[in-house]
This record gives sequence, C-alpha cells and structure tokens, in this order.
Amino acid sequence: MPDAPKSGSAKSGPAKALEKLGLVRDVDLALHLPLRWEDETRLVPLAQARAGETVQVQGIVRECRIETRSRRQLVVHLQDGRDTLVLRFLHFYATQQKAWAAGVLLRVRGELREGFFGREMVHPSVRVVAEDTPLPQALTPVYPASAQLPQAYLRKAVASGLKRADLTELLPPADLPPGLPSLREALAYLHQPPVGAPVAALEQRRHPAWERIKFDELLAQQLSQAMARAERAHLRAPVMQARDDGLPQRLRTALPWALTPAQDRVVAEIVADLGREQPMHRLLQGDVGAGKTVVAALAAATAIDAGWQCALMAPTELLAEQHFRKLVQWLEPLGIVTAWLTGSRRGKARREQLAAVADGRATLVVGTQAMIQEGVDFARLGLAIVDEQHRFGVAQRLALRQARDGLEPHLLMMTATPIPRTLAMTYYADLDVSTIDALPPGRTPIVTKVFADNRRPEVLARIRDEVAAGKQVYWVCPLVAESETLDLKNATEAHAELSAAVPGAQVGLLHGRMAAADKATTMAAFSAGHTAVLVATTVIEVGVDVPNASLMVIEHAERFGLAQLHQLRGRVGRGAVASACVLLYTPPLADAGKARLRAMAETTDGFEIARRDLDIRGPGEFLGARQSGDALLRFADLAEDDALLQAARALAPRLLREQPDAARAHVARWLGTRSEFLKA
Ligand code: ADP
Ligand code: MG
Repeated sequence: MPDAPKSGSAKSGPAKALEKLGLVRDVDLALHLPLRWEDETRLVPLAQARAGETVQVQGIVRECRIETRSRRQLVVHLQDGRDTLVLRFLHFYATQQKAWAAGVLLRVRGELREGFFGREMVHPSVRVVAEDTPLPQALTPVYPASAQLPQAYLRKAVASGLKRADLTELLPPADLPPGLPSLREALAYLHQPPVGAPVAALEQRRHPAWERIKFDELLAQQLSQAMARAERAHLRAPVMQARDDGLPQRLRTALPWALTPAQDRVVAEIVADLGREQPMHRLLQGDVGAGKTVVAALAAATAIDAGWQCALMAPTELLAEQHFRKLVQWLEPLGIVTAWLTGSRRGKARREQLAAVADGRATLVVGTQAMIQEGVDFARLGLAIVDEQHRFGVAQRLALRQARDGLEPHLLMMTATPIPRTLAMTYYADLDVSTIDALPPGRTPIVTKVFADNRRPEVLARIRDEVAAGKQVYWVCPLVAESETLDLKNATEAHAELSAAVPGAQVGLLHGRMAAADKATTMAAFSAGHTAVLVATTVIEVGVDVPNASLMVIEHAERFGLAQLHQLRGRVGRGAVASACVLLYTPPLADAGKARLRAMAETTDGFEIARRDLDIRGPGEFLGARQSGDALLRFADLAEDDALLQAARALAPRLLREQPDAARAHVARWLGTRSEFLKA
C-alpha cells in the first residue's frame, strides 16, 4: 500500500492528484468528507446472506484457478462452514492468483448473486486475513476521488490530515443552532461512523454531524461576503447629490408615461446609493420587459447632473445599439452629449468618440466590452452600468477604473435572469439587490404553446394571420454549437421557407455572421415595421424591443436552456397587443427538455422560471455563467438547508463585529486560498 503524503517531500503522482482536488492543507483533508460508507464491521455467515445484498463474508479458499470457458477469468471457490461461494475476477493479476491459494482465509465484501453455478460475487473487495484479524470498529469511508488517487491512499491521507489539523472550536457554542456537535466531533463521526451508525441518514446528509458541517460551510460563505462588503466600505466614490430641478426630473417629465411604483422604488434606491460616499454595488433585477432601461437612464441622468460621466456597457453590439438609440432619444433633447463605442466603430469616427470621452465632452458613453478591452480613457467616470452581463468579473474591471482623485465609480448591474432568493442570499450576499417586481401596465399576457414539429403548417398559417393583421413575427433558429455554417444554413432555409409561406410579406434575416452594420440595418427595418417577419438566430436573445411583434416561433425549442427561452419569449408581449409564443420541438424529448418546455407553457413569471431552472439544473450549473464554480457549496443544499442558511446569515455579522479574529480564521479554514477568488 502506498505511503500517506509526507509534507515537504517531492510531489508524487497521488500527491499531485491531492493538490488537484484542492487538498493541500491538513484542514482541507479533514474537510474532505465521504460520499458514502461501507460496512465492514460485521461478518455475515454465508448461510444467512441473501442474494442482492452487499455483505461481508469470510471463508477458506478451496480452489483458485483461471478458467477460459466464456471469457478468461480468475475463479475462486470459497467455503464458509457448509456453504460455498464463487468469486469471479475478469481483471486480475498473477500475484492475486498466488496469494489466494487453497487453504488461505479470505474476507470478501460485495454483492451476492445467485449465479448459474450457485452463489457468487463478481469483483468483490478481498483481504487475506487470519482467524483473529479484528473487524474494523468504524464504517469505512468512501471519498470523492480521482483516477490518479486510489481510495486507500486517500483514506490514509485524510486520516492523517484529520489527526494533524487544527480544529479548535472557533464559534461560540451558544451561537450554534441547538443540538449540533463540535466541529471535531462532527468530523470524527463522518470520517469514521461507529458500528451501527445510520448509514442511510448519513448518505442523505441528514444527521447532526452533517448539519454542523453544512452550517460552518454556509457561515464561511456569509462571512467572506460580509468581509468583501466591509472592504468595499473603505473605498470612496463620488457623492452625487440629486437636485430638485435637475436632469432626472426633466427626463421624467419628458417621458410619455409615468414610472410604475416598482420603477420608482428602485430608482429611489439607486439615487440614495449615488448620494453616498461608498461606491454603489447594486444588482438591478427585473423580468424581461419590466422596464430596466429607463431606470438606467435616470441613474445616468443623476450622475451626469452631478458632473460625472456614465458608461453603459452591453454584452452585444446589437443591444448596445438599442440602448444607444433609446438613451439618445431620451437624453440628447436634455443637452446630454453621448458617445458610442463598439468594436466595429473604427478609424476617424472612433478617434473622435475616444477624444470626446477622454476630454469629458461626452458624458454618456454606450458600448460593448470593447470599452474596457481597449483601454478607453474616461475624463471622470462616476457611474458604470452593465446590462445583461452575468460575468460580473467584467463589471468589476470596469468599476475599477478610478474615477478621479482615488475615487471609485459606482456600479449598477442589470439582469433579466432573476436570481432565486436563497441563491441571491448565498452567492450575492455582497451585492445590494433592487427588484422591479411588476411589469408596466397594459401588457397582455403571452400565451405559450408547445407543438411537435409536424404541426408546422398550422404555425405558418398563424403567421400569415398575424402579418395580415399588421403584426410582426420573430422566427428563431437554434444555434448548432459545432457549426456556424450549419446555423447559417438553417437560418437561410427558414428564411426561404417563410418567404414562400407568407407571400407578399418582407422577411428579414439576422444572424451572427453578419457585419454589425448589416445587423443594425436589418434590425432597424424590423423596428420600423418594414419587415413583417424576422428570421434570426439567438442574436436577438436579449433586450431587443419591438412592441408591435406579437408572435414568436422558436424552432427546436428543446435545444435551448430555460433561461434562454424565457429571454427569447420576452421579445414579444412588449406592447398592448395580445402575444403568443410557439415552441416547436422535434420528438422524442429527453426528460430535462420536457421539463423545460412544460415550465415555459405553465408560467411567464421570470422568478418561477428561474426557480424551476434551478430545480432542473442544480445551483452548480445555474451559476455556471458566473464562472466561480469553486464558490459553490460542497455540502449544504440550498433547497433543503434553509434553516441553517438563516442561522448562518444571522450569526455572520455579529461574529464579524464581536470576534473578528475567529471570523477570519473560520473563513480561512473553509475557503483557504479560495477566499480571494470569491470576491471577484
Ligand atoms: P427590460 O427591463 O427588459 O430592459 P425595457 O426597458 O426594454 O425592458 O422596457 C420594455 C418596454 O416597456 C419598453 O418599450 C419601454 O419603453 C416600456 N416601458 C418601460 N417603463 C414603462 C412604464 N412605466 N409604463 C409604460 N411602458 C413602459
Ligand atoms: Mg433591457
């Protein structure tokens, strides 16, 4: 058996594999908990063992030889009293055949089967023992491992890590949820449950020992986020005082409608943040169509009114263009000078825009990531707004551009993918969240239908009706990940099909391979109502706003993610016209695909969709886009451990205040070197 790792020795294969699993410190090993347990504490007499059960039995080898009848295999005949058992090994070593010679006593563990030639076990675990070899006094842990890391090696490493790790109790016992053991007790129990421990409950992680671990994990996460927030509190940002008769007020007066109460509330929250000397770090969430753009415009107007520049960044050029047009339409009449920065704007035009941003003439700058990638120089950036950007890292980089005199710009992130409450509390505890929880009035709910692809003719007839009634239609083709060419082919074919099916109507085509200028022209033609049908790939996924569009057909809807379908559907139902969304699928459907389409048909509520998405995919994938997989909880389960989460949330700020050293030590214990990463 290999040796457990010695600290300081050169890294062997398994030692490197440990490091890869993040098992570097003793405490990392101590917190590497079993997935399941094997009960090797009992021997079952063969006479009492039943087929189908996993049991440990002991017997004397009567015969051990290689058979070649059907497939070459090592066959061992074992005798326990008057009963016999056959062991079969399809993979084996010559040394095993030698070691398991007749007369040797073997202790084997595996699933008992009723074979053709009597009772047998295939590939059981085997140990050569003596009559007096003691049975283990604890269940045997089975750890999450990797191919380069044998279970036996890992067991030794964990056991010695557990022995050496500093597991001093850091939390005041009175502050723990009642009935939980100490950390040391909990770990000892989980690594080595005593004989008779409730294995099923342990494997379902329902045991006080597990609760203690989960509580500590949740607490570490809450603490690290509170610490990040406290660090931010030392930063300074421009204080933007709102004036009574300033730009924001004039913008409100100029709007064709009044803000909804929900919009009013979030605007007030944002304006209050902008008036403070700590940088805002706020997430504005609102379902598609909730009206986030005007909130952004009012935030921008507040910043500009106070003498600062505002940058608005969108993930795609198309979206940036949409924002740009809308904001220009709203803000230029008020005398605000805007600049437009994207990758496709080059040469003299670009240089002029850059100069206007650098000397401060342009106070509102709209663009794509090109803004941060190419080092645009702002004269006095005071507010950064990032739309539909789930990779918050990018937002941070933008915000890190120093405003001036060591001041940090305020940061507002906007998303139409609402984060379920528990998730927000766990992963975004360092963000302030504003939610627009009601749509503007006058919207007619979208009706969603799920059709198999063979009902295409009906769908085409419906499109003709809509177009005849002066409405507009989106037809969305899926992305084929492997092949952009195939995407283009699909979209082109759909374009031909629709042009033929809706005679007399203009049918537009929008796809990712088009030049930005062509995309803009196509989009403008659709916005203006010149094209009745727009065939598009998912480039229209976010933010595009054409209120006269009343029908969206999504082809191969089963290939889209739930959040993406919801985003797409949000492109219709943006005005008062009754709207519909048809999800076409090609049978047969996998379970997850079925669940997604059902969710779409059953609800239009973005929060409900997000919740179901979380159910279908689990938080790991749900948050995948945030690219901080390491930040995910290893043991706690948000769906089940709400009470523990609440307790951790309650304790975190108090611990930080009253025992900051213990709080820091707790975070270091759990997150180690990863705590830095979590802040990003
Ligand atoms: P999203 O939150 O998806 O970005 P938008 O900001 O694009 O939504 O708004 C969707 C539509 O609703 C736009 O046409 C916008 O002009 C309109 N809108 C926004 N706020 C209101 C309001 N208070 N009353 C009426 N219409 C509104
Ligand atoms: Mg939007």
